[in-house]
Amino acid sequence: MPSSDYDSACLPDLLPLYYRRLFPFSQYYRWLNYGGVYKNYFQNREFSFTLKDDIYVRYQSFTTQAELEKEMNKMNPYKIDIGAVYSHRPNQHNTVKSGTFQALEKELVFDIDMTDYDDVRYCCSAADICPKCWTLMTIAIHILDRALREDFGFKHLLWVYSGRRGVHCWVCDEAARKLSVAARSAVAEYLSLIKGGDETVKKVVLTDPIHPFIRESLKVVERYFPQYALQDQDILGRKESVDKVLALVPEDVRKVLKERFQNEKKPENRWNLIEDQAIKKQGTAKKGQYFEREIMLQYCYPRLDVNVSKGVNHLLKSPFSVHPKTGRISVPINMKELDKFDPFDVPTISLICEELDRPRTGEEEEKADDVKEKENEKDAAERRKIRDYKRTSLAKYVKYFDQFLDGLAASWKGELLKKSDLQKDF
Ligand SMILES: [Zn+2]
Repeated sequence: MPSSDYDSACLPDLLPLYYRRLFPFSQYYRWLNYGGVYKNYFQNREFSFTLKDDIYVRYQSFTTQAELEKEMNKMNPYKIDIGAVYSHRPNQHNTVKSGTFQALEKELVFDIDMTDYDDVRYCCSAADICPKCWTLMTIAIHILDRALREDFGFKHLLWVYSGRRGVHCWVCDEAARKLSVAARSAVAEYLSLIKGGDETVKKVVLTDPIHPFIRESLKVVERYFPQYALQDQDILGRKESVDKVLALVPEDVRKVLKERFQNEKKPENRWNLIEDQAIKKQGTAKKGQYFEREIMLQYCYPRLDVNVSKGVNHLLKSPFSVHPKTGRISVPINMKELDKFDPFDVPTISLICEELDRPRTGEEEEKADDVKEKENEKDAAERRKIRDYKRTSLAKYVKYFDQFLDGLAASWKGELLKKSDLQKDF
């Protein structure tokens, strides 16, 4: 992924500035403290830092926002990962009796990485992405977001760009944080449709009747398929890619389609021929009759790294961490603007650090004064921090994170009320 304005050699110089003046500590703490509903929820959370030369430090934990801030400013991590909430302070895990230090809770997380789509995208491979294949991430988010909300009833979903070639989802509802390993596995299995590795040709097999969840997912895929698969990836254009598609249809149909394709070169028309054959088959056969939908799903359905979702103690890259290779900040994705989200638009650490040095415009000065008035009771350093990220391209992402946190706060207000009622009763 080209990030022309970023040179990874500058990272050691930029990180101190990023953590000192730009990292949204107060929002970050507000998130992971979850309203202070449960004692030690923030304090028992594991953070892990990747330092210079890939030095990996696990089991970091902090008692307060100030301590987190101080340590981050001291260590200037290249990368931050978030782990589980443990039974004890992670930084004291060596001092507790063996076997008692246990991961208790964590957000339900999902990790989708573009490299898992290498067998179905022709524009790029490995760590590279482009606007064409990014559509796969857009489709994945639409499908999973709907399923997690409507089929599982979760409300507080934070989608985050990984900074390079994928996206993460943090399901922050209390019920999600308390899920057992078995329950997490069940959710991940429910959402997994693509089965088998490189050696498996046909990775999606649908049976009658098609599950409502798959029907809903297909609605999303159908919106993107003509432009994305037929135009941008041209899966029915070149011979090799046509053969790969035809390998997914029943043998008798394959023969017919091969013949028809000789006189028909336009991808849309070729797709219509496939659909015609499928409709025919659906009237007669009892097996393999949904091959057109199986093709759509195999090419577009989200590919999950289920191991990341299953484990409670699995670490995942933190929002607002920097991606050391691209310099891009791992930013929350506003669902209302998902289709407009462009990973190449996401600011790099060098850009936002540079924006800090730009002279302010009059309008910005005015805004800053507004903030100063409102935040009068806060100390000067805190006030400066508020203004600092607001002057950069990071502002709109922090603003969206704030909105997400407001939604979460409404949920823990309910919890706090319940708790105080309980105390009244006893
Ligand atoms: Zn691409």
